[in-house]
Amino acid sequence: MLVEKLICNVARKKNADYLRFRPGESYDVPRPRDAIPRLLYLHVPFCEELCPYCSFNRVVFREQVARDYFRALRKEISMYGDLGYSFNAIYVGGGTPTVLIDELAQTLNLAKGIFPIREISVETNPNHLTGPNLAQLRDMGVNRLSVGVQTFDDGILRTVERFHKYGSGEEIAARLKETMGYFDTLNVDMIFNFPRQTMAMLEHDLDILTGLHVDQVTFYPLMVSTSTERIMGKKLGKVDYDRGRGMYMKITDRLKDAYVPSTAWCFSRGDVMIDEYVVNYDEYAGLGSGSIGYLGGSVYSNTFDIPAYIEHLNNGQFPVAARKDCSTRERLLYDFLMKLFGISLDLDELSQKHGVNAYIYLLPEVTFFRSTGGLMKKDNKIVLTPKGQYYWVIMMREFFIAVNNFRDYCRSLID
Ligand code: SF4
Repeated sequence: MLVEKLICNVARKKNADYLRFRPGESYDVPRPRDAIPRLLYLHVPFCEELCPYCSFNRVVFREQVARDYFRALRKEISMYGDLGYSFNAIYVGGGTPTVLIDELAQTLNLAKGIFPIREISVETNPNHLTGPNLAQLRDMGVNRLSVGVQTFDDGILRTVERFHKYGSGEEIAARLKETMGYFDTLNVDMIFNFPRQTMAMLEHDLDILTGLHVDQVTFYPLMVSTSTERIMGKKLGKVDYDRGRGMYMKITDRLKDAYVPSTAWCFSRGDVMIDEYVVNYDEYAGLGSGSIGYLGGSVYSNTFDIPAYIEHLNNGQFPVAARKDCSTRERLLYDFLMKLFGISLDLDELSQKHGVNAYIYLLPEVTFFRSTGGLMKKDNKIVLTPKGQYYWVIMMREFFIAVNNFRDYCRSLID
């Protein structure tokens, strides 16, 4: 427990430091220097209703604004093509990407016409799992559908204001069952360690999931930014991170017979697409309002101001509002975090990629995690041990909380 607290505190501080980049007026998108595989992340920030615990970049859906937004998003895609970028995969996240399915289809068709796209992953919510929507998504070439379920417990669903929007746990499970077989991969996003969630409630979630045999389950620890912590506290109670380990152990134990970990918190049956594009792709472009991209060693973020985002693109300008060019050590640390989140890391490959000796640059981190039993050597790679898997859950949780705090900060500038 002491080691976990130490990891949590250090990760919290380091992530906050690394994500400290001041938004400015306008920045440029880094130019492509080589032809490595890259992913195109498209953000659709609209939701029919907002959930109180959510720290993502999302706003209440208004049809006209959303249509103008999708048009701007398509302009942005074309501008990346004009810069010389090529992408092999698309991830559409939100918000709720399926909020206007005709606009989503137009957008994906445009991207497929410009880039050699091989896989498309789209997020959605349980109320959008209708026959017509699923058929359209399949026709658009979506390979992987990721459904935000969070929990099947009706009590928690009511408290987090999802019950009236998406139905009871039983109804959601029935919709998932009908969705199976439509796509190469059906992923279900779950959350563990809600305040007041008991081990019995988690067991109930796991019973339903293992009974459904979905292709992939992603079990996120509850991650709240500083701003949503207050709202969560009022609605559900204080988040107790110390309970996380026991719950995570329960999840890995219950899923181990039918699933293999593809990341520290994503569990897959057989050969299916991985959930986290940050593991699969060394670089990704972030398109859409508030999107964060990582290209050529630079992290950048688009403006969170939706009208400003649309205006920039109508004027033919990239809507980048913050950018940080990372040092070699920062790039190595980023790869260390992301690759090991995907369970294994090849230090020789990393040395080659960055043109430096990764063993020397990462000596403190590798030594620390080996001495605490989190890492071991396997076939010239370093891999996470079962203990290390939970360490990485903590590190990634802190990473995403820092990202959420950065989003809060950016949003505060336009309020
Ligand atoms: S949890 Fe999903 S549906 Fe709820 S507000 Fe956040 S992005 Fe929207």
